[in-house]
Amino acid sequence: MKLRSITRVKDLVGKRVLVRVDYNVPISKKGNVEEMHRIVASIPTITWLLERKARVILLTHIGRPGGKVVARLSVDPVARILSRLLKKKVIIIRTRNWSRISQIEKSLARMKPGDVALCDNIRFSQDEEQNSASFSKELASLGDVFVSDGFGVTHRTSPSVTGIAEYLPSYAGLLLEKEIDGLSRVCSMPTKGSVLVIGGAKMETKLPVILYLKKNIETILTGGGIVNTYLKARGFGVGSSLVDDAYSEEVQKLEKISTIVWPIDVVVGRTDGSGARVVTLGNIPFGICRKNEAILDIGPKTISMYASYIQSATTIIWNGAMGYFEQKPYDTGTLSIARLVATRSKGNAFGMVGGGETVQALRMVKMEEFVDLVSTGGGAMLEFLSGKELPGVNIVSTT
Ligand code: ADP
Ligand code: MG
Repeated sequence: MKLRSITRVKDLVGKRVLVRVDYNVPISKKGNVEEMHRIVASIPTITWLLERKARVILLTHIGRPGGKVVARLSVDPVARILSRLLKKKVIIIRTRNWSRISQIEKSLARMKPGDVALCDNIRFSQDEEQNSASFSKELASLGDVFVSDGFGVTHRTSPSVTGIAEYLPSYAGLLLEKEIDGLSRVCSMPTKGSVLVIGGAKMETKLPVILYLKKNIETILTGGGIVNTYLKARGFGVGSSLVDDAYSEEVQKLEKISTIVWPIDVVVGRTDGSGARVVTLGNIPFGICRKNEAILDIGPKTISMYASYIQSATTIIWNGAMGYFEQKPYDTGTLSIARLVATRSKGNAFGMVGGGETVQALRMVKMEEFVDLVSTGGGAMLEFLSGKELPGVNIVSTT
């Protein structure tokens, strides 16, 4: 996949460049940004534009305000971090009323070449939420050029993600290029030596990835909710484990896919961390745990078996926690996988990790910088890996 890169544009001096970024980051009750990976990842594009004396106007959403102004979801905490990272003032454009586009235009008119502005949460506007065509045109009137760089939101369709591109020359930002390069790379790597590690909770996003990649990946290692759902569907007693019964039929079909590797043991216990013990699995269904217990991690034999696959891999894609890693002792499986993937990456294998909680686990073992590509998008990455097109990428693609 080839993208129309912003680096192709020669003269940007004084141009108003609208950049769709993805600053949808968790904000604490006290109003602090809890996770700044996405903000950090947006810096290269912004710096590149500022060096060329563009007027940089950033658009983002935060959370789901539902078309209303929700003070807690304003961009202020993000602007503070951004300003610190850029070592530069970030002008906040108050867009409490996105329908008064002429007022926003007036505020922006004061910007000088080399200035950077961050517009308030775009989802304060109902028109953004409802994907209004006229709003796309109004937004476009605020700029001369559009840059799509919010990889984490490219699987969506909305005025600020896709609509603007109908009215302005549009390009891919540096982050978008990096993400798509990495994803294209893992998808075109030889089957031999490729490993997909997939866990987490949301079946509806994980199953399509397995089904799409099953022919191209040599080994698929499983953990998390998908395993519980599979075991229950086969008749094992799983107590109060996290399962998605809606997928009980579909998940049984995975049995026929010979490249999928299932855990050979699991850790069961209570969700508060008490009563944890290892249970070895077999082929004949039995009661794995009691009603008030759940399967909360992969077991030690499984970790060591998965390690042997990861340690000989040449391509690794990891998404989804292996267990309930927010609670000890159920963090062992996920954190072990994090260490194994990071250790094998950058050199022996090309390693790609994505997903909110997955990246959090990688950070818990302080090994982020050892992975080739830490994706800023969970949903978008999974959709790409399911063979779906990403609307926010299509608008800047040349193929
Ligand atoms: P990601 O955001 O990394 O794609 P998901 O959102 O799919 O991952 O799921 C992550 C969540 O799933 C984690 O918060 C983790 O605690 C939870 N989880 C994974 N396995 C289990 C399990 N066996 N029991 C309970 N929760 C689990
Ligand atoms: Mg998640």
